[in-house]
Amino acid sequence: MIKDEGVNKVSANVMKKAQRLKVEKSDSSWLVSGGKEPHIVEISPEYEFKCDCMGFVMRKSCSHVLAVKLHSEKISKELKLWEIDPIYLGC
Ligand SMILES: [Zn+2]
Repeated sequence: MIKDEGVNKVSANVMKKAQRLKVEKSDSSWLVSGGKEPHIVEISPEYEFKCDCMGFVMRKSCSHVLAVKLHSEKISKELKLWEIDPIYLGC
């Protein structure tokens, strides 16, 4: 049975799972491993994430996509951290 549990109800468990997953960026997709099987998460031309796992097919959301989102947020935070004031770049 496919049951719509709503994003908030599943997010606590999915979040826990997502935090344990390993995310590796390749050209235009991410390889998410650490679960039962590795999965590929891609970004569509509409800038929506999509995953090749069954959970995503059923719920349009899964821990792999969340893991990639967490990963990208981490990266953007790190990038911000390293952002140098343009004035000091001398160009
Ligand atoms: Zn997935």
